[in-house]
Amino acid sequence: MRKRVDSLKLKSILKYILPFIVVAVLFSVWYFKRRTVTVTDTRLMLGTVVEITVMGEAGERRDILYEAVESAFLKIAEIETIADRHTAKSEISKLNRMAKEGELGPIPVSDEIIEMLDLSRIVSERSDGAFDITVAPIIDLWDFSSDGKGRVPDEDEIRKRLKLVDYRNVAVEKGTKEVSFRKTGTRLDLGGIAKGYAVDEAAEVLRKLGIKSGVVNAGGDIAVIGYKGGGKKGGDPWRIGIQDPRNPKGLIAVLRLNDASVVTSGDYERYFIENGKRYHHIIDPKTGYPSDSSISVTVVAKNTALADALATAIFVLGPERGLRLVKDFAEKTGDGENSVEALIVGPKGKLFKTEGLSKIMEYLD
Ligand code: AMP
Ligand code: MG
Repeated sequence: MRKRVDSLKLKSILKYILPFIVVAVLFSVWYFKRRTVTVTDTRLMLGTVVEITVMGEAGERRDILYEAVESAFLKIAEIETIADRHTAKSEISKLNRMAKEGELGPIPVSDEIIEMLDLSRIVSERSDGAFDITVAPIIDLWDFSSDGKGRVPDEDEIRKRLKLVDYRNVAVEKGTKEVSFRKTGTRLDLGGIAKGYAVDEAAEVLRKLGIKSGVVNAGGDIAVIGYKGGGKKGGDPWRIGIQDPRNPKGLIAVLRLNDASVVTSGDYERYFIENGKRYHHIIDPKTGYPSDSSISVTVVAKNTALADALATAIFVLGPERGLRLVKDFAEKTGDGENSVEALIVGPKGKLFKTEGLSKIMEYLD
């Protein structure tokens, strides 16, 4: 008799809670299905913080995603070994030493150096020398190390060293993969393009390993792969915040992007203040002094190396000439006008942008 009462009780309890159990199970299945696996890792490389994030669909193995991230970091380390002129053994240091000793070539170089030098040459030509990797002797006069204790160099010394700055003194032979110098003492600095190039290479490694959704961010040089979360077309685009150059915690815009690169160059990255004036690391190759033409420049393109070089070039050219360079680039590359977009904070803080940027930009109050 007692047993029968218990079973009746159980039945009536089940009647009430069963629907809740069913809903909970269905919710868990739905939640598990839509959930993505995210792996993020951060390393100090390329003189900055490099962060790589990859996303896989639910059930994807985390260790495989980790391996992909590790391979991407290895690729970045490889590019750094080639392009860092402050490492004696790097390829670029070797080239600089040869040019110093009057060995002007032709000198055989790696595919990576050829690609970076060739893209540099194109951006130099189209920007009328605003981007110029032979600016190294001038950079070495300034001290923009992050402690902000640099000093303005001697004017005569700047003038003397300016004679060594001319991108036309470097000839790149793509066919034979050789570089020649036209002037003894020419010195190359890939600081304005190598980060972007390394980001492209890392993104390529991730793609080849099957990653369909991810971000490679080397201190503001960013490539996004696919859409956020599993990379399904039609998913959410990645939202990339663009820093307010005068407020490290603020943003001036948020860009919505998929399969694209975005790079920002700013006067707030490495600088010092002397007598109330800001001296920063983007040099006008015509004067040898930091450029006053912009405060920050953001470029969106399909390729991070190009966005990197263009951001530096546009910074030096200033908003009006910079926007013309973007247009000229889009037309000459034949990709249509929207292949390159830019957002420029002018010297007085005014915002300038290309027409197509509005389509991917979220306005902030
Ligand atoms: P970014 O942060 O990409 O604008 O690059 C700035 C870095 O590029 C500097 O730290 C220098 O190493 C180098 N650089 C500075 N001015 C120029 C220039 N006008 N053209 C090419 N590279 C430059
Ligand atoms: Mg750059």
